[in-house]
Amino acid sequence: MNSYVIGIDIGGTKLATVVADKDGNILQKVRKPTESEKGPNHAVQLLLGMVNEVLDLGGLRREDISGIGVSCGGPLDTKTGIIYSPPNLPGWDALPLKEMIESEFHIPTIIENDANASALAEARFGGGRGYDYVLYMTMSTGIGGGIVANGEIYHGANDCAGEVGHQILLPDGPLCGCGQHGCLEALCSGPSIARRAQEATANQPETRILALADGQIDRVRSEHVLQAARDGDALAIALVEKTAYYMGWGIANLVNILNPQIVLLVTIAVAAGDLLLDPIRRTVTEMAMQRPREAVKIMPAELGDSIGDLAAISLVIGN
Ligand SMILES: [Zn+2]
Repeated sequence: MNSYVIGIDIGGTKLATVVADKDGNILQKVRKPTESEKGPNHAVQLLLGMVNEVLDLGGLRREDISGIGVSCGGPLDTKTGIIYSPPNLPGWDALPLKEMIESEFHIPTIIENDANASALAEARFGGGRGYDYVLYMTMSTGIGGGIVANGEIYHGANDCAGEVGHQILLPDGPLCGCGQHGCLEALCSGPSIARRAQEATANQPETRILALADGQIDRVRSEHVLQAARDGDALAIALVEKTAYYMGWGIANLVNILNPQIVLLVTIAVAAGDLLLDPIRRTVTEMAMQRPREAVKIMPAELGDSIGDLAAISLVIGN
């Protein structure tokens, strides 16, 4: 009885429901497209059906489930379980998702933003295992994060803690999606790396970056920069070093403020490996204060593609 949990992972393009045991082993999974253009009610109806489907596949009844964890883009309110217009889910405006799920299944449900839920999953099942103070940072289309202390997500006053990408490094720097200038995200996200590479490539057309992008500046992406750096291209190496410098600067600030034992970096940092991580570590060593710096490791996250499922279930699996 009551030995299983359900996880729901809500993305802009895909929905997934999983059923898992209390050790985090995924037993069954159902996946469907979000079809976000059909609006939130369509997606919620799909999700409710997918919960029933995954229960059927596992041969389980509602009474076997102790909790439902939902990982979704924010902003959202974890206390009320209301979702407020995530950028990737148009029309999800003040959607009372927790109430909708609980009134259908009568199972306690926890709604959490995906960066926080992923941080918790890494802390429980991934690179943060065995550490009490974990800082998790994504590095892809944006730079987000989650803080886990003693096995719990640090939410702040109204679920806004962990916005690591919007610390301002260069007040006269490039415009950020949040409206400010020179945020870490405006310097080190995938699109920001691509933009800096496009600007630099215009003056150095012989760079390997441009060759990898079929000779078209507007096709230059962050992955071309990483590949060209691996191939020894001087401009690409300089761009990676500059990116690592900004990332290291931002992480040094967070190391001084939060004093984590481990900083786990995902996506671009995982793809780049030591090419990016070594100069990030160097910058943190140069810029962070000595004692917090000596206590911290900077490592790639470990969970890879399984993070979405584990993020959702980690919300409802006890310590
Ligand atoms: Zn910003």
